[in-house]
Amino acid sequence: MSYESPRQMNEQELVASFSDAVRFGHLYVLYQPKINHTTGRMIGAEALMRWKHPIYGVQMPLDFIPVLEKNNLILDADLFVCESVCRFLRRCLDEDIPAVPISINMSRYDIFNHDYVNMIEQMRKKYDIPVKYIHIEVTESSAIGGMELMTRALNQMHEYGYVVEMDDFGSGYSSLNILKDLDVDVIKLDMRFLSGDIGGRGGAILSSIVQMTKWLNTPVLAEGVETPEQAEFMKSIGCYYIQGYLYSKPLNDEEFIEKLKIVDHEPLSKSTDLIYSINSGRFWDPQSMETLLFNELVGPAAIFTYKDGKTEFVRVNAKYIKEIGMNLTAREMLGMDLLDSLDDDGKKDLVGTLERAIATGEEEECEVWRNVCSQICGEEKVLIRGHVRMIGHADDRYLFYAMVQNITADRRRYEALEESERKFRMASEQNNTYAWEYEISTHRMRPCFRCMRDLGVPPVVEDYPQPLFDNGLFPPDYYDMYMDWMKQLENGVDHLEAIIPLTPDRIPFIVRYTTEFDENGCPLKAYGSATIVVDDMADK
Ligand code: C2E
Ligand code: CA
Ligand code: CA
Repeated sequence: MSYESPRQMNEQELVASFSDAVRFGHLYVLYQPKINHTTGRMIGAEALMRWKHPIYGVQMPLDFIPVLEKNNLILDADLFVCESVCRFLRRCLDEDIPAVPISINMSRYDIFNHDYVNMIEQMRKKYDIPVKYIHIEVTESSAIGGMELMTRALNQMHEYGYVVEMDDFGSGYSSLNILKDLDVDVIKLDMRFLSGDIGGRGGAILSSIVQMTKWLNTPVLAEGVETPEQAEFMKSIGCYYIQGYLYSKPLNDEEFIEKLKIVDHEPLSKSTDLIYSINSGRFWDPQSMETLLFNELVGPAAIFTYKDGKTEFVRVNAKYIKEIGMNLTAREMLGMDLLDSLDDDGKKDLVGTLERAIATGEEEECEVWRNVCSQICGEEKVLIRGHVRMIGHADDRYLFYAMVQNITADRRRYEALEESERKFRMASEQNNTYAWEYEISTHRMRPCFRCMRDLGVPPVVEDYPQPLFDNGLFPPDYYDMYMDWMKQLENGVDHLEAIIPLTPDRIPFIVRYTTEFDENGCPLKAYGSATIVVDDMADK
């Protein structure tokens, strides 16, 4: 056998040697400590996978993990890491080595295996490791498989008691939206996404992200910290937890145990000084990055406080002002008390929703009519659907984040539709007329309620008129003529009329079509009606 020098293995070689790697221990785990930079204490570690091939040498995860993912082998690899971590923790507990929580990485492909969380749980139980010692790192991209899958997995992790860390936060553009929807316990920010630029825009982005994580009351950790300057900068913007080469490279079992023995430990803790941290500084500065993020990265949103039955806007973004409409200025908007703009029912609804949001800590929804007054448009009622979440409090003053949608137009359209339907009903009831609407491009027909009630026509008839010939409502000898009518409608005829014997009893009806056109003169819809022919007409 000829030995080759160490080199990166290709896909075929990796796949072919994977089972040997698991069996003969070519896969192994390194541990990288996580530190509180202000105290120098260790708060945990991350398990990182390595593969040392007997011929080609050490392979790095960024090279082999995508191959394992693609070939459906990643779950086995991740479970191998989980078992190694359990075994390691078992050893610490047995030998009185002070243990810290160790996080394992979940691949976004693991989530497709519905049993992933149970498998981790079984492994933990097999080694009898208290759940606080195992954290699970997930990435935003895991949600690509579907928010539902991800939410279910997170719920299950939380039910078992696992701490969940959001890895590589900020690498995807939808970060803030994801955070709003996913309930994670720790956020990991990667310095390398912004390398070499902490003085400039990169630093400002980091700072605003840290600020936002504080509203969510979620601890944040910076990874990939290589220099004292980076660590100091992170500390200066309120991020104390770090992981990276500055403090330690990933370590093997023995090296890590040495570290565990000599370094003090402390648990990860949440930040609490919410409202006051927002009050200070940059958040209020219209030129700051915080403002930019708030304005650019989320939909129509507002932040307001609630205390003693009064609300006060703290911030609204440009999209919020646009959504409310009415040509308001930010100043006009900020000056309003949300509750003052509601009638008594609306007040009750909103206050109820806010109190619910305080009690549950969850996002709550409500719909209220607001009386909005603007200099340009005067007074107007708008229907607002809001999703609110309490994001912090100091004593009895609560801070809320709201995302809103102006649904006035939708509601009005719906009401208009209901009204026209009501009129239509009344008219057709009086006239002995059956009516329907025929959409020319789709050949879809919608009958009036009398057609449905008296003739058994379903609410939507596809491929009209074929089904009505099939069920005998239309007489077969009129087939060619009627199909010719449909052609004529397509070609833009504006009116058609003839007497046709309809229903199985072949009762004569006057059938009429009137066509509706779009602005370019193309036929859109034809309104059909059938009126029973009274005897003297039929005689003519
Ligand atoms: P990750 O989860 O973001 O892990 C952190 C990576 O950054 C590790 O690379 C670590 O060695 C490296 N790193 C730590 N500190 C520094 C630093 O100060 N500077 C620089 N430049 N790099 C630093 P690694 O071990 O090569 O892992 C790469 C990626 O592979 C991981 O990124 C993770 O996405 C994936 N991975 C590693 N182990 C596993 C595993 O067991 N399962 C799964 N599914 N993925 C894993
Ligand atoms: Ca990770
Ligand atoms: Ca990471």
